[in-house]
Amino acid sequence: MNHQLSFDREHIWHPYTSMTDPLPVYPVESAHGVRIKLEDGRELIDGMSSWWAAIHGYNHPVLNDALRRQTEKTAHVMFGGLTHDPAIDLCQQLVDLTPDGLDKVFLCDSGSVAVEVALKMALQFQHARGHAQKHRLLTVRGGYHGDTFHAMSVCDPVTGMHTIFSNALPCQLFAPRPESRFNGPWRQGDIAVMADLMATHSRELAAVIIEPVVQGAGGMWFYHPQYLRELRTLCDRHDVLLIFDEIATGFGRTGKLFAAEHAAVAPDIMCVGKALTGGYLSLAATLTTENVAGILSEGEPGVFMHGPTFMGNPLACAVAAASIRLLLETDWQKKILQIELQLRQELEPARELANVADVRVLGAIGVVEMVQPVDMAVLQRFFVDRGVWIRPFGRRVYLMPPFIISRTDLSSLTSVLLAAIRQA
Ligand SMILES: *Cc1c(COP(=O)(O)O)cnc(C)c1O
Repeated sequence: MNHQLSFDREHIWHPYTSMTDPLPVYPVESAHGVRIKLEDGRELIDGMSSWWAAIHGYNHPVLNDALRRQTEKTAHVMFGGLTHDPAIDLCQQLVDLTPDGLDKVFLCDSGSVAVEVALKMALQFQHARGHAQKHRLLTVRGGYHGDTFHAMSVCDPVTGMHTIFSNALPCQLFAPRPESRFNGPWRQGDIAVMADLMATHSRELAAVIIEPVVQGAGGMWFYHPQYLRELRTLCDRHDVLLIFDEIATGFGRTGKLFAAEHAAVAPDIMCVGKALTGGYLSLAATLTTENVAGILSEGEPGVFMHGPTFMGNPLACAVAAASIRLLLETDWQKKILQIELQLRQELEPARELANVADVRVLGAIGVVEMVQPVDMAVLQRFFVDRGVWIRPFGRRVYLMPPFIISRTDLSSLTSVLLAAIRQA
C-alpha cells in the first residue's frame, strides 16, 4: 500500500466507517462524464451519481464554466445583510419549479441541515400561532432524513441510529412503511395506522415528514402516490404541517422533476439537496409557503432562528442555477424514460435467482433486493475489477447512474451487476 493510502487508512474517516477496521477505499485521479478514473489508471463506469448528485456526470464544461466565472467575481460573502445574483437566480428557479405555493426559500449547507431547518420551521410556526404543545413529529418506518440529531430522530428506528443515541433523541411517532407499490394497486388500509396516529396525537403534532414516493437510503422502496394524497388530506384535517424530503428524489431522478408531482400534492415545507448543484458542491434548500413563513415571522422572536456561516454560498448557488438550466435544456424526461425501460428490461432476469427477493425500477433508479445482506467490500472489489462503480448497502444492490449515460455503458452496469449477484 502506498504512503497516501496508508495515511488515509490511519487518519481519515469515510462515511460510516471504522477507524480500527476500515473498508478499502479506491484513490480517484479524476472523473469525466460517466467515468471515474482511478490512480492506477483503471476507469470505472459510474452507477451511483455519487449518491444521487452527479446527474450530468463529472467535469461538465457548462458547470465548470459557471463555477470558474463565479470564482472570478467572488467565492463567498456573508449572507447576513448582503445578497447576490447567484442566490437570487437560483431561488427564482426553485420558486418557479417546485410545487405551487412553495415561495419562500432558505438556503442550507447540506441535506441534513435542510431537514433540521424544515423541522425548526414547523416547530417555530406552531409556537408562533400559540400551539407550542405541537412539537412532535410523525413519519413512516424505513425513512432516511440525514445524520444530524433531529433528522436522525425521524430516520427508521431499527436501521437508523436510535438505539445508541436513544437517550439524546427526541421520541417521535412512527407509522408502518407504505406497502402499496408504486405501480401496483392502492390499498386503503395502507394509511390506516397513520390516520389513527394523527387522530390520537394531533394536539402534540407539529408535522409529518416523509420522502415522497421513493424511500432512499432507508431501503430503496417505491410506494404508491395515493399515500401522499391521503396524507395531505389527513394533515389538513388535523392541523398538522406536511414536509416532503425531496433531497434524493428532486431534479428528475424519479421521472418527474420532483416526486411530489406523481401525486400532484404540494407540501407545506419541502427540502431539496443532493442533485441541486449537479454534484459539484454541498448545497440544499428548504422551501415553504407564504402562510408558514408569514405566521412564523409574526411570532416571537420575529425572525426565523437559523443562519449558517456559509449560507447562500455564491459558488454553490451559481453552479446549482447552471445545473438546473442544463437539466431543463435537455429532453430529460425522455432520457430518464429510456433509462427506466432499459433498467427494467436488463435487471428483470435477476428476479429468477434464488438469492434475489425483489427487482424494482422507477425513473433512473434500479434496485435488486437480495434475500441476505451482501458483503459490501467483496462485491465492491468485484465491481471495480470489472470496470464499474456500484456500491451496494445491506440487502440492496442498486443503480442510479448519471442521466447522460449511454445505452452501452448502462448495459455494462447491468450486466456486471447481474454477474455479481449470480456468483454472490
Ligand atoms: C442524503 C439525504 C439526506 C441528508 O443529506 P446530506 O447532504 O447527506 O446531509 C436527507 N434526506 C434524504 C432523503 C437523503 O437522501
